[in-house]
Amino acid sequence: CGIIGCAGCDGETLDTLMHGLSKLEYRGYDSAGVALSNHSLSVERKAGKLDALRDALSNSSLNGNGNGNESVIGDGSGVTTAGDPGNDAHAPVGIGHTRWSTHGPPTDDNAHPHRDCTGRVAVVHNGIIENYQELRDDLSEAGHEFKSDTDTEVVPHLIESALDSGIPPESAVLSAVSKLEGSYAIAAVIAGVDQVFAARNDSPLVLGVGDDEYFLASDVPAFREFTDKVVYLDDGEFAIINDDGWRVTDIDGEPVEKSVSTVEWDP
Ligand code: GLU
Repeated sequence: CGIIGCAGCDGETLDTLMHGLSKLEYRGYDSAGVALSNHSLSVERKAGKLDALRDALSNSSLNGNGNGNESVIGDGSGVTTAGDPGNDAHAPVGIGHTRWSTHGPPTDDNAHPHRDCTGRVAVVHNGIIENYQELRDDLSEAGHEFKSDTDTEVVPHLIESALDSGIPPESAVLSAVSKLEGSYAIAAVIAGVDQVFAARNDSPLVLGVGDDEYFLASDVPAFREFTDKVVYLDDGEFAIINDDGWRVTDIDGEPVEKSVSTVEWDP
């Protein structure tokens, strides 16, 4: 299982995600998926090997072809402070996932990325959210509808619920993550927001610093072809990348100073 995220990858976002996922194959998985986000959010995901996802993508609008992906949901509602609907000046940011199922069988519906009710938030996750049942019960009571058996699906709903109460995107993701107990490497994107948010606790996550392109992944090989500059994230840290930089904070949003290391090995 593995996660990948990228920002600033211009027209190559989808290729970069798929390359990253192929480099994480050694970790084992039963399903895979990707989400691209600019003013709208698009998701494609499939049970099975990466080839099943590649096939699905080949006639998907994520690839500029056809209209086969699950949903392309234009936004505007709720995320009015960020992004400029209709302005494609920013290439999409993206996240990708290979799943090793722990909660729910390997099906298309249980494959990540998972979304909120409105489809404006997408989340990938490795690990186990121990308190998911309690969170899910509370969210269900508040009217959220769940479409998968996973522990992960609570995360996009928690982010949605924070956005709905007027909390800005970065704080909304932090607030969602602060409610989680268990192990996680998480990456999230929100339609209309040109950033990828990530957090870790007891599950590996590294940040790659390229030339105007930035990466998040479970392991360095996912982006080594594009950069040898790496920031190793620690438990309890939160990372934000966009097309002109990166930042790390603690769970309260306070900046954390991190050093950039250079990996010695070739791709
Ligand atoms: N617990 C999550 C699920 O079953 C994530 C599994 C993983 O680490 O890939 O979907």
